[in-house]
Amino acid sequence: MAAIDIANVRKSYSSLEVVHGVSIPIEDGEFVALVGPSGCGKSTLLRMIAGLEPITSGEIKIGGRVVNDLPPKDRDIAMVFQNYALYPHMSVAENMGFSMRLRGASRSEFDCRVNRAAEILGLQHLLKRYPKELSGGQRQRVAMGRAIVRDPQVFLFDEPLSNLDAKLRVKMRSEVKGLHQRLKTTTIYVTHDQIEAMTMADKIVVMRDGGVEQVGAPLDLYDNPANQFVAGFLGSPA
Ligand code: ADP
Ligand code: MG
Repeated sequence: MAAIDIANVRKSYSSLEVVHGVSIPIEDGEFVALVGPSGCGKSTLLRMIAGLEPITSGEIKIGGRVVNDLPPKDRDIAMVFQNYALYPHMSVAENMGFSMRLRGASRSEFDCRVNRAAEILGLQHLLKRYPKELSGGQRQRVAMGRAIVRDPQVFLFDEPLSNLDAKLRVKMRSEVKGLHQRLKTTTIYVTHDQIEAMTMADKIVVMRDGGVEQVGAPLDLYDNPANQFVAGFLGSPA
């Protein structure tokens, strides 16, 4: 687990700035929801934290260490996307343990970590199946299993539930929350769904047009929105 410090981070694509000097302190073990309308810069910010996109200026620290120039593999983070891609020719166990195979982990370490992740997610009975034999929710659980197996300091989620139907989304919400309560891994969870953010997060960061509008605990934001935009987004009476 690790604290994350995002300090005055900017991102430009050619001459267009899409993230404007964002600063967000995140405590060790915190579950932070990053919310805001489509196109406001949530994924760009998450990809910069992951190291998948270079930052234009500013500083990102993970566990006290400046990571600006570190490649993704050296940042001790695991990311789960909306369009989780599982390898179709690999079993659930192989999909979950793939990163360990790349590291050259032993068979016993592989089995141990995959079994632990499977137990956490209730996937023990599915380890030998292939992705096409799974439901959407089960596939998303495997994608999370892949992240858990790596036992990272930080989880980054980019709208991981938005491809699921409404009922399953509600169920998975409490699973992800339960996962966090159990592992206490520092988590940044991007969503455009305010109910997801309100029910899951310790802290909500509301973004708009590449900037941060307000940061606070869910009920604080709901009760004391800084402006009309935050109130409208969270559905609180303005
Ligand atoms: P969100 O995840 O909140 O929907 P994004 O971070 O994907 O928003 O996008 C923020 C802004 O940056 C948008 O205006 C988008 O068009 C722009 N953008 C994202 N990626 C690129 C890119 N690779 N090149 C140019 N513009 C981009
Ligand atoms: Mg996005």
